[in-house]
Amino acid sequence: MTNYDAVIVGAGPAGIFAAAELVESGKKVFIADKGRLISERQCPIAAGQVRSCVNCDSCAVVSGWGGAGSASDGKLTLTAGFGGNLEEYIGRVALCSLIDRVDEAFVRFGADPHYYEAGGETARDAIRRAAQAGLRILPARIRHIGTDASRVVLNNMYEDLSTKCDIRMNAAVDDLLVENGKAVGVRFEDGTEVRGEHVVVSPGREGATWLEKIIGRLKLPIASMPVDIGVRVEVSDSVCELLTREFYEVKCLYNTPTFDDRCRTFCMNPSGYVVHEFNQAHRLVTVNGHSLKNKKSGNTNFAILVTKNFTQPFSDPIGYATHVAKLANMLAGGSVLVQRLGDLRDGRRSTQARIDRGMVEPTASAQPGDLSLVLPHRYVMDIVEFLDALNQIMPGVNHSDTLLYGVEIKLYSLRLELEKNLAVPSIGGLWMIGDGAGVSRGIVQAAASGVVAARAIALG
Ligand SMILES: Cc1cc2nc3c(=O)[nH]c(=O)nc-3n(C[C@H](O)[C@H](O)[C@H](O)COP(=O)(O)OP(=O)(O)OC[C@H]3O[C@@H](n4cnc5c(N)ncnc54)[C@H](O)[C@@H]3O)c2cc1C
Repeated sequence: MTNYDAVIVGAGPAGIFAAAELVESGKKVFIADKGRLISERQCPIAAGQVRSCVNCDSCAVVSGWGGAGSASDGKLTLTAGFGGNLEEYIGRVALCSLIDRVDEAFVRFGADPHYYEAGGETARDAIRRAAQAGLRILPARIRHIGTDASRVVLNNMYEDLSTKCDIRMNAAVDDLLVENGKAVGVRFEDGTEVRGEHVVVSPGREGATWLEKIIGRLKLPIASMPVDIGVRVEVSDSVCELLTREFYEVKCLYNTPTFDDRCRTFCMNPSGYVVHEFNQAHRLVTVNGHSLKNKKSGNTNFAILVTKNFTQPFSDPIGYATHVAKLANMLAGGSVLVQRLGDLRDGRRSTQARIDRGMVEPTASAQPGDLSLVLPHRYVMDIVEFLDALNQIMPGVNHSDTLLYGVEIKLYSLRLELEKNLAVPSIGGLWMIGDGAGVSRGIVQAAASGVVAARAIALG
């Protein structure tokens, strides 16, 4: 018997916004997530209980109410052209309108109403100097909620939604139920089932490998996406603050001279912290970064990611990226590596003593080591060349004491073929949204993709 109008897998921004939109149009909704509620989500490293990742069953950084977004920096990128591919499905005008819709909800539930939009002389000067160094700065409107405040906002959303729909946490979905070419519900790992007219799948990057298995079984067509591999860079705030005060996040693109690879800066966190991220499916620890609204570190961190397209016959970019990350874990005794840029250039491993003598005090525990034993040569060259170019707009970023944590990977390399409204073409009542489906790469577009699917479901 069908109980619900829609069953949603994953309570990240995509799932939450899909649910909110559906209940507004009177639909009966069920959301399940394998992680915990916000109040129960606490990374043991952040709590000071352990120094490095202990591989929790459910990683508090990426799983639970709010998804990866709740433990994230909560930077809302409010400019179309960043954070995903949703524009390809719905067009720019509709995307801009949905970005406003999502942003309005975040502010209504408690996000800081102030946003950053660089337009002053400092920004214009930086863009000019960047161009001279071969860098392209992409100006964006950014609202910074902060990891701490983000938890409050998402908890407010939970309080609101929990009165309007059924929510089950600590509940991993094992399989989708498909009967006669139509999705009819989900089966949990404990064998219980929940049925619905529509199934909306939003498992995020954390669930990308689970989703890969499902789409393999259902024989859904996918397009391979490029894979992003890189490092998290950590410097003193003073290196970046002229720009971060203006832009908050400096989004920068660069084609490297030696290999002509496309690199970008990603997820910049002024006065922030480097964090470990545990990927349960692959049992590996990678790095990320965030910053709090009410506690400042004195360091800025950001990722440098190198984007590579692989060609046939190779078709397993997730496998490639996780292989590289596993090498780092292997050399770091199950943790992540950290290396001074000077040591990487000099071809020697970093030691704790050299890091302690340096000017940048690490915000995360990591094993001093040698990233050149982990990253292929072209990635190392790309990263070093990018840092040298960035030095033209952030003097000091290529200093020997700059810290590089490795590795950072983005497993959004799976992209499903979907209808414009994010329905799966070959299976009735099945919808795929958010980062896990390769539709988005950030909070705002993930949330917007949830609204797109929900509106289509509500229209019938
Ligand atoms: C540390 C960190 C910082 C970040 N900072 C930013 C930022 O500042 N700005 C930004 O825009 N983006 C940021 N991101 C990325 C952002 O969080 C994601 O793009 C966004 O959350 C994607 O939303 P989603 O709903 O698609 O998936 P997710 O938020 O990943 O949510 C997916 C949910 O599905 C659940 N799930 C997975 N598989 C199953 C299953 N089989 N059964 C049940 N539940 C399942 C997971 O537990 C998870 O809670 C950050 C990410 C991290 C990890």
